[in-house]
Amino acid sequence: MFVRKLGIDLGTANTLVYVPGKGVVLNEPSVVAVSELDHKILAVGLEAKEMIGRTPGNIVAYRPMKDGVIADYRITEAMLRYYMNKALGKWNILKPEVLVSVPAGVTSTERRAVIEAAIKAGAKNAYVVKEPILAAIGAGIPIHEAKGHMVVDIGGGTTDVAVISLGGIVSSTSVKCAGDKIDQAITDYIKKNFNLAIGDKSAEELKISVGSAVAVNNENKAEVRGRDFLTGLPRTIEISTNQIVAAIDDELRQIVKAVRDVFQETPPELAADIIDQGIIMTGGTSQLNNLPELIYRKTGVKAYLADKPLYCVVNGTGIALEHLDTYKKSVISKR
Ligand code: ADP
Ligand code: MG
Repeated sequence: MFVRKLGIDLGTANTLVYVPGKGVVLNEPSVVAVSELDHKILAVGLEAKEMIGRTPGNIVAYRPMKDGVIADYRITEAMLRYYMNKALGKWNILKPEVLVSVPAGVTSTERRAVIEAAIKAGAKNAYVVKEPILAAIGAGIPIHEAKGHMVVDIGGGTTDVAVISLGGIVSSTSVKCAGDKIDQAITDYIKKNFNLAIGDKSAEELKISVGSAVAVNNENKAEVRGRDFLTGLPRTIEISTNQIVAAIDDELRQIVKAVRDVFQETPPELAADIIDQGIIMTGGTSQLNNLPELIYRKTGVKAYLADKPLYCVVNGTGIALEHLDTYKKSVISKR
């Protein structure tokens, strides 16, 4: 069967593609490798990520979506083209309809740029939908109800908090503090307290294996290898849960603040709905141990992790594509 529709979640850390009837067909890092000399795009996705740290000096692998906005039009088009071609397969001759998630805070110019890029990359029609709406749809929230729902999506580059009612965003904020900043905080902590330089990957592994958002009694421990700042030699240390909690305190505070800020702008009736139903958490970083518990402690409102938090946005694109009529109010643009 030929593919006629594609949903794309252009995340700051990962890009996922959904094909109605098939589900998620592609999940790769949002990385593009560019040659510094002639600015040629050399690789996208997994292949580009594998180049990081192993490239000759004149190749840079970078993450164009890092802060949740598209910095470079040409790169966006190349990324979209790569993901579309890969998901469609080379025998596909029909131009697909493409639905792309965009950050809630994008300007109309940025929105148009995404649509243009998708068309140039081979789409017949392109639609964009704001990410919190898609996250909510993918998390199974009935977004068309006249009821307030709060979605907190914590990814790699940004934390997005939105209150949704009647299919639209009532209040929202986006802060550039999420998984990447948490990894960086762990790296900084280990540098400061142990004089040890560790890699980004090690920091992320520590976060996932022993990290937590609140201090715990039964701590986990993990070893991490790095390079001693003074001797320059490799060294191994042991890190426990509550050390990570201390290391990432500042970042967690910023995430909690984003939630509180949105509550302050939310009309009382909708806030009451959210208190009744709780906050829904999506995105990879929502899986940090005890993060819903931290949100509850700091806001007094129960928070729940969505089913498959990493897939909510892309599943939302799939559901919206399959029911374009139902969701047309939330679909922002079309060409
Ligand atoms: P984006 O939408 O910005 O591309 P994702 O939703 O894909 O981001 O989430 C990626 C982030 O989730 C990364 O920072 C990654 O380290 C983090 N992450 C993934 N799994 C876990 C986990 N179990 N615990 C904590 N963080 C996690
Ligand atoms: Mg995301």
